[in-house]
Amino acid sequence: MGNSDNKQVNASRDETESRNETFYPGPSRIHLAAFPPKERWDDWTELDSQAWPRRKERHYSLVPTTCFNCESACGLLAYIDKATGEIQKFEGNPEHPGSRGRNCAKGPATLNQVTDPDRILYPLKRAGKRGEGKWERTTWSEALNTIAARIRKAILEERRNEIMYHVGRPGEDGFTERILAAWGVDGHNSHTNICSSGSREGYQLWMGLDRPSPDHSNAKVILLISAHLESGHYFNPHAQRIIDGKANGAKLIVFDTRLSSTATHADYWVAPYPGSEAAMLLAIANYLIQNNLYNREFVETWWNWKEYLSSESQESSFEFSDFEKKLKELYKEYTFEFAAKESGVEAKVIEEIAKLVSTAGTQFSSHNWRSVASGVSGGWSVARCLFFVNALLGAIATEGGVYPNAWNKFVPRPIYTPPHPKMWNETTWPREYPLSMNEMSFLLPHFLKDGRAKIDTYFTRVYNPVWTNPDGFSWIEMLTDPDLVGCYVALTPTWNETSYYADYVLPMGVGSERHDLHSYETHDSQWLGFRQPVMKALKQREGQDIKDTRDVNPGEVWEENEFWLDLTWRIDPDGTLGIRQYAESKKNPGERLGVDEYYEWIFNNSVPGLPEKAAEEDLTPLEFMRRYGAFEIKNKIGKIYDETVGAEELEDLNVDRFGRVFTRAAKTAGPNIVPIPSPDGDEVGRRLAGIKVGDTIKRGFPTPSGKLEFFSHTLKDWGWPEYAIPTYFKSHVHPDNLESDQTILISTFRLAVQIHTRSANAKWLNEIAHTNPLWIHPSHAQKIDVETGDLVRVETEIGYYVVPAWVTEGIKPGIVACSHHMGRWKLSEDGQRQFMATVKLDRDGTEWGLKRERGVEPFESTDPDTLRIWWKDAGVHQNMTFPVHPDPISGMHCWHQAVRVRAADTDDKPGDIFVDTEKSRAVYKKWLAMTRSADKYSPDRTRRPYWMLRPLKPAKEYYKLPEE
Ligand code: SF4
Repeated sequence: MGNSDNKQVNASRDETESRNETFYPGPSRIHLAAFPPKERWDDWTELDSQAWPRRKERHYSLVPTTCFNCESACGLLAYIDKATGEIQKFEGNPEHPGSRGRNCAKGPATLNQVTDPDRILYPLKRAGKRGEGKWERTTWSEALNTIAARIRKAILEERRNEIMYHVGRPGEDGFTERILAAWGVDGHNSHTNICSSGSREGYQLWMGLDRPSPDHSNAKVILLISAHLESGHYFNPHAQRIIDGKANGAKLIVFDTRLSSTATHADYWVAPYPGSEAAMLLAIANYLIQNNLYNREFVETWWNWKEYLSSESQESSFEFSDFEKKLKELYKEYTFEFAAKESGVEAKVIEEIAKLVSTAGTQFSSHNWRSVASGVSGGWSVARCLFFVNALLGAIATEGGVYPNAWNKFVPRPIYTPPHPKMWNETTWPREYPLSMNEMSFLLPHFLKDGRAKIDTYFTRVYNPVWTNPDGFSWIEMLTDPDLVGCYVALTPTWNETSYYADYVLPMGVGSERHDLHSYETHDSQWLGFRQPVMKALKQREGQDIKDTRDVNPGEVWEENEFWLDLTWRIDPDGTLGIRQYAESKKNPGERLGVDEYYEWIFNNSVPGLPEKAAEEDLTPLEFMRRYGAFEIKNKIGKIYDETVGAEELEDLNVDRFGRVFTRAAKTAGPNIVPIPSPDGDEVGRRLAGIKVGDTIKRGFPTPSGKLEFFSHTLKDWGWPEYAIPTYFKSHVHPDNLESDQTILISTFRLAVQIHTRSANAKWLNEIAHTNPLWIHPSHAQKIDVETGDLVRVETEIGYYVVPAWVTEGIKPGIVACSHHMGRWKLSEDGQRQFMATVKLDRDGTEWGLKRERGVEPFESTDPDTLRIWWKDAGVHQNMTFPVHPDPISGMHCWHQAVRVRAADTDDKPGDIFVDTEKSRAVYKKWLAMTRSADKYSPDRTRRPYWMLRPLKPAKEYYKLPEE
């Protein structure tokens, strides 16, 4: 091609780009010609593929909502057929700044969840014994009145600690926490300690905020620990930006013991021994330190190195050069050879990676989510050591670096903010775990069996602990004992293993049938997404008056916002308890608050720029959000820690010897209004306003020191001085802690097309993935004489499960892996027939067995596809055979198991499970004994450091331990 041809091509490319820019300048600012332009969302025309070769047009109304099939909250567009009035499909919403019109397979599968023939459509009440499988239909009014009366009684009798709301995927920012606060109940319980607490703890220790927001698109080097391209955290929004980064020339390094889809895209894939990642990261850090390749100015200004030196000596003034010498000394043992010995990765490969990392400067993006941080004891230190590398390079809140999550997130102020609960719930926040990242949720059956508490009313929402948690049989024992749990209410769109033990099963809407607000750290921006019931939004667009989502949802399916407001109203019908006021309309006092008013108030009052933007299109803010589903508040947030604190915040100052500036002035609204944890103030009650840098006062980080905490006074003061700085230590599955015939089972990896416990009603996803064989390396398989498809027994500390082997080189030799998602089961016909095997449970005292009676089969239903089901397998429910392993610091359940793997016995069948819950109790007690309780170690007689994050923080005085 000659120069003139090149010019022509370039000219035509410019024209196309300029045309696209004019044609569709959506918030993502990328080539969007493939997406329906928003101007045509009222009548979008496509040809009907099923009518081919005829050209038959279908006309759609396009209504945005947000996917609820993972935490990413990608935008979806519902294509509602104008002729049938039904949703034909879901595709990406190009107006959504996080997902930019793109989705993974789980987004479009929302349609399967809407049309699922097995979904629960009406409120049900238990008719037989708990778990017997007998149900009768009831009304919403009966269910609400009964539950409200129980809660009211518990509140009046000062049994508030007996009310518990246990949530898996929240999918919203604070609505339900505020409902609990309105009730004055410290009853929030989350699944986070079986999910991501390990990583969160590591990040929080450094920066006071618990999640990173990596700017992958602009990075030079990306280092990932876990499978971010196929699952991981903020899966699709991050995955597309990792690919953008690669397209821009970034090098991708992946640490993963298993060959994940992410690893297949890597420039460097290393498969370390699980739990050794921190040793490798410290070797990289050591290389930067010993060769003076770190960002000196950043470290000197923003690390709390003075506090470290002051804890080590009696001197009162310190030189940075002293710290540098000390740093070299502290980390010199972390050589490449040491890391190689721990990880099994060659020293020269680790060295090559370290050299590559050193070239990134401030454009080093990294992320550790779940994976090893959720797998091993001390997993939190992996995230801490990873962020150590960022902190050395100064790659924090820089283009191509990593931002603290709260700075890339926007949580608007709601219509009501009830006060902090005046109580402390020891069942979820026990004294043994004062530094735990989240509630000790997975220990609940053990705490109740210990006699520490009982529960009057227990809600689960988007949560299935019998199946999801370790030690599921202990959950069944708890739920079937009415002396431990008085009334169990399952809020769920679908049947699940836990809902079988409920007293009420209440049908909730899926992602396109409910309202929620959310905002996540997908990149350096702040956006707000609006999940909405699409049929309601369409009918309102057409001028109809729809007040209640039950009027547009299938059967009597409701949305949780309306449910919680209604329940709150009924708990305090005359307002005498002071609760009703938080569920009352401001526009029409005396009437219950409706969701339209709730969101209208937020969009009118709390989202900067939205009213003006809406007015440009002659829309109200609520109409704007109903029409487009998302709004970008600000792009390019930058270094909030480096901003100068305004003079209005500086009053009655006190500057301490570490440069911390305390003030009496109230905090002004900062650049975002995400609730940021408050570091403790000084002794006379001033709050930490910032950090003195030269002559100016900078905002700093929300840590006790106001800086990045290389040195954690908190760990030192609360009984863990050996971990006061980033370090590596041997995990519960370190080779030194295993017996010679044991290996490690990795049980946490996810499949890109499955949704934890919620994809049982997504037929497209189930057809793609419906089994979870045991990954085993050929050398290992040969040793135990098994081939692909042969059954193996995996023996844990409390029992065993039986599963087919999959012999593959995609796993480190000697380690085995089995994905979660699978092994769904039902006891009768009530269940998700396309994904659940029918099983029989046997119990003999504390010994439990689960055997599969029938696999998945085709069946007749309103969906002809259910007759086309060709798969029988449903995988194995391995989590039931795992005891609880609470990390004594982060509280994270350490998922990796020390197991024995052998060929199955001749009468073993796929999916067989055996467990002895007496052994579960023994393991629980063993791990509990490793803790360092606030009773003994609290430096100030509080239950927990006040600065640390906590959902639904109680009032500060309730942090105090009771007087002995
Ligand atoms: S990544 Fe997939 S499942 Fe998650 S929100 Fe986006 S489309 Fe939905």
